[in-house]
Amino acid sequence: MLKLLSALVATLLFASSLCAEELFCLNAIEKGDQGARPVRCRVGETDPLNLKNNTDINSVMELFGLDPTTIVFKGCEGLGFHTYGTADSSGAKYLISYSSEANEKAIAAVIHELGHVVQLNYYGGYASLLKRYPSIRIELGADYLAGIAYKLVLNEKDLKGFEQNIELAGSYMPSSINDEHGNPSKRNQAFRLGVFDESNSQSAAKLHQNFQDNRYARIQ
Ligand SMILES: [Zn+2]
Repeated sequence: MLKLLSALVATLLFASSLCAEELFCLNAIEKGDQGARPVRCRVGETDPLNLKNNTDINSVMELFGLDPTTIVFKGCEGLGFHTYGTADSSGAKYLISYSSEANEKAIAAVIHELGHVVQLNYYGGYASLLKRYPSIRIELGADYLAGIAYKLVLNEKDLKGFEQNIELAGSYMPSSINDEHGNPSKRNQAFRLGVFDESNSQSAAKLHQNFQDNRYARIQ
């Protein structure tokens, strides 16, 4: 366990292109030259934006039915937005990494990551999630859940700005035909399907399932 955590921390501290080989990682795409940028994490700076105590993040965790004690946040300059499976002595199961440079813009992208935690909980981990859906459906599912979060608890924020900030979670590469997050149009459609979804009385996990079964096909 300790070894796993040490390896994870080492990865977070020293790797810039974090996700390509990580088993429990979502959001593998890095944009252009930024993939080679060094990550500068200060020792002891674990959650510089204090997302653990952020009101919006906590409201969304409650909406999504997530236990806050199972999630830890790790931010530093240049770090990407990703969700990892982890195992530490505090009992956390997931580590969400974020770029501290994004400041308040990080909120929307981290909410996309919380959508991944909903998926991982519901489908029983990354391997079974990936067996069930291709990456693009997983990513658009997280954008859809961010739309649900926007509609139900964050709707005083500017819709357009929030929608754009979600895209910090994974970068769109125009030249790539293998982009795992979907192009901006697909991402906007998935997010807006969440914002304007009328079936809002179910759990986040059930809404996500409904997205995959009935809504995803509407995205063009
Ligand atoms: Zn993602």
